[in-house]
Amino acid sequence: MDSQTIMTGVFGNPIRQSLTPVMHNAAYKQLGLNYASAAFAVSQDNLRQAVEGIRALSFRGVNVTIPHKVAIMEYLDEIDEEALDIGAINTVVNDNGKLIGYNTDGRGFIQSLLEESQISVEEKRVLVLGAGGAARAVGISLARRGVSHMVIANRSVDKAEVLARHISNHVPCKAMSLGDLERIDLKEIDLVVNTTSIGMVPQIDEMPISEKQLHSGLLVSDLIYNPIQTKLLLAAEAKGAKIHNGVGMFVHQGALAFELWTGHRPPIDLMRSLVLQRLMNK
Ligand code: NAP
Repeated sequence: MDSQTIMTGVFGNPIRQSLTPVMHNAAYKQLGLNYASAAFAVSQDNLRQAVEGIRALSFRGVNVTIPHKVAIMEYLDEIDEEALDIGAINTVVNDNGKLIGYNTDGRGFIQSLLEESQISVEEKRVLVLGAGGAARAVGISLARRGVSHMVIANRSVDKAEVLARHISNHVPCKAMSLGDLERIDLKEIDLVVNTTSIGMVPQIDEMPISEKQLHSGLLVSDLIYNPIQTKLLLAAEAKGAKIHNGVGMFVHQGALAFELWTGHRPPIDLMRSLVLQRLMNK
């Protein structure tokens, strides 16, 4: 770093475990860009001042993670149309003092799914497990890219209903309780996406759907990347289903942010191998 270095970063709380700076710094170095990334623990009370800091210190941009993806929107000058549809942002670009919010989570998910499974989402029948922030990004992005129809299953069914109503603006979508999942026939589904935290460290022995419902005709995706292969993915693979873990989504959402800041396509393979290395050495 020197006096010309252009800063980027990630705002969140907690943020100590974030793999974003490692991934972005390696990509800057590989491409010979004089940029640097760091992680910033920002409390809810300090969010407005932290956003003013992006402008005051001429940061090129930041990624934004839990718990600020929605709250930060009111402090920005402009929100990209897809991010507005999703209702949350994960990337801020500072365009000469104008702060623009984007959401690269959903697009990152779709790019990664296509890259790793070679399966296009068009006309697919989709079951989304969960209705939190990640479900919004993934569900709305899938709907905008022409899936056939969707079912949203969540523990709190009211949240599933709100999301399903919103997705219905794009494609037919039904809501149900996660507890009623056994009532649906997964032979009628092509793609299952787990966006709940069930199966994440430390609950690694849990899965959000019964093993007996899984079958070889499914593509099963789990947004969780810690552990890299959740119990759900191991069970789906054992049944002959295709599987997709959360590492690719994380790498691609970061790659899309990198492109927005620098105008360059980052070295995806390098970013992925660094993230995998960190996750495996935990
Ligand atoms: P969130 O907004 O807090 O949503 C959490 C979701 O999980 C909600 O649907 C919640 O249901 C459900 N849930 C949590 N504990 C549950 C339990 N014990 N039983 C049933 N349902 C439960 O979190 P988020 O930001 O959407 O993140 C969700 C997951 O996605 C996390 O594991 C996160 O690591 C992962 N993620 C991955 C990436 C990536 O790049 N790969 C990006 C974003 C998120 P209720 O509504 O009923 O509470």
